Order: sequence, then structure tokens, then C-alpha cells
Amino acid sequence: MQVYLSENVFLGLILSAIEVYKSECYGLLLGLRTNEKFIIEFAIPYQSAKRGLTWAELREDKWRIITKIVKNFPKLDVIGDFHSHTMFGESRADVFLGKEDIEYMSENELQMVVAINDKLKSQIWNNNRNGTISGTIDRYHCKIAAYYLTGGKRRNRFPKLAEIHCPFAIGLELY
Ligand SMILES: [Zn+2]
Repeated sequence: MQVYLSENVFLGLILSAIEVYKSECYGLLLGLRTNEKFIIEFAIPYQSAKRGLTWAELREDKWRIITKIVKNFPKLDVIGDFHSHTMFGESRADVFLGKEDIEYMSENELQMVVAINDKLKSQIWNNNRNGTISGTIDRYHCKIAAYYLTGGKRRNRFPKLAEIHCPFAIGLELY
């Protein structure tokens, strides 16, 4: 599975994560989907996401409201969600999905995670072997992952990493 991110979307994800760092951000992904790929056109942060609220508490209501509105835009679909994982004390965040993250995934939807940490040293934006992309900007290190579900029954569903393509970001040294 491949996931295409535009400059817009890349910037949207990074800014959302940085704006509320070290809290977590939550938002919605809009775009197009085919059998082999997701093309993400917009990453829209939930404005009502508040510190301490869990993803689950937020998601259901927002999802319903926004899905209804997006139906009016025939070229756009609700593709999935994104949220950030952040550094907690000395413990650095990674993109692994938590139990709750998996619980609320459904088939044909993408779940993106931005892991954000204090930068240790500058790193040019690059593709990683597992499909994620990572790099530094300002004083932050970010890694972006996109998960999709492989089929199967609810209890043995298994999220897999998709391959992220973001031609805008790759090779950039951001300050
Ligand atoms: Zn999570």
C-alpha cells in the first residue's frame, strides 16, 4: 500500500504536531483512495482536541459530523485520521500504535502517526526502510508513519505500515 503526501499535507501534519507539542494532536485526513494507494489532499487538525481527552472520546462525534459535510465534495473522501506521539519526560516517542489506536481503526482507513521528539542532531528528510519518513525541523525530530489494516476478523486484524511518498519533503534540510 502506498500513501502520497502533498507539500500541504506534510506541512499540516508537522505544524499540527509542533503546535501542541508536548501534547498530542488529532485530526482528519481527506483525499482519494484506490486499491493500491491513498492520495492525501488535506490534513485537518481537530480544533476541539483538548489535552487529556483520549482519541476515543474525540473521534466518534467529530468523525460523524465531518463525514456528513465531506459528502458534499464528490472528489474528496474521509481517508482516515492522524495523531501525534510525543516525548514524555526522558522517554522518546515512536510511531508504534497503542492498543487504543488499533481498536478504533477500520478497514479501508488510514491511520497516520507523527512521532515528535526534541532534536538530538539535524537530519535531512528521508525515506526509511519500513515505509516511514523522518527528519528534523527547527528543534524537533519527526517521524511519520501510515498504517492500514489487512483484512480479517476484528479480533485478528493487523495494522501494517504503508509506504509513504512525499517528494516534497525527501532530501530537504529544514531549519
Ligand atoms: Zn497513538
